[in-house]
Amino acid sequence: MKKVLFLVFIASFLISCCAKSTIVADKTPSWDTFIYPEINFVNKAAGTEGWSIYNRIVPDPEKLIKESILGVVKTLYWSPDDTIPNIRKINYTVEDVKGISAKGGAPPEINIFYSSRWVEQSAKNGGDDKVLYETEGVLYHELVHGFQLEPQGIGSYGTNKTFFAFIEGMADAVRAQNNYFPASNRKQGGNWMDGYQTTGFFLQWLTSKDKDFLRKFNKSALEVIPWSFDGAVKHVLGEKYTTQELWDEYQESLKNN
Ligand SMILES: [Zn+2]
Repeated sequence: MKKVLFLVFIASFLISCCAKSTIVADKTPSWDTFIYPEINFVNKAAGTEGWSIYNRIVPDPEKLIKESILGVVKTLYWSPDDTIPNIRKINYTVEDVKGISAKGGAPPEINIFYSSRWVEQSAKNGGDDKVLYETEGVLYHELVHGFQLEPQGIGSYGTNKTFFAFIEGMADAVRAQNNYFPASNRKQGGNWMDGYQTTGFFLQWLTSKDKDFLRKFNKSALEVIPWSFDGAVKHVLGEKYTTQELWDEYQESLKNN
């Protein structure tokens, strides 16, 4: 009889555990309701080697862009109900031009170009898998510019270095968080205001202090006005933290790499 009771106890324990995990699973935000923008893909590099490579490695550009959008918004936000810039259309072009890639325009419609010459350049350094890895990484970076929040009360990208560092740092932080940089790119040195990977890897490292750091840092653009790097770090992690001390700790951690 005791054995039966024990089994009943174990069974009910297991049922309550399973029931609990179901409830937890239900609370995980679903992105099923996220409304994707329309993707207007235009090839403007017909006849170039870069286009021929792109066309081979990305047979369905719209699918790749939509998958990347989901990766970006999931890294920047908790759920589709958050305050996400309302992009309704993305004009994505592959063009035979200098440079790598850039985003222009503002919601509801943005433009992103990707250079077929850069595709050719990447192909010199590796095979199709390397070119696809680079293409997806660059796409993530530019899509962050579409979907990230922007600092307020401190001027603009062109006029304020802090604004620039936030915008370019977050774009590379999201790219790094989704494993679109080789680990060897993470190096010591520089300053958190440098933008791009120097800032990006630091911001990614700060997820070791708070796993939602990138989402909270993005959201700080709505909450810390005028925005500042140190103000946002304190807002997210607590008053006892300073950017300088965290940066020093981060630099120290890179010595052990
Ligand atoms: Zn950028």
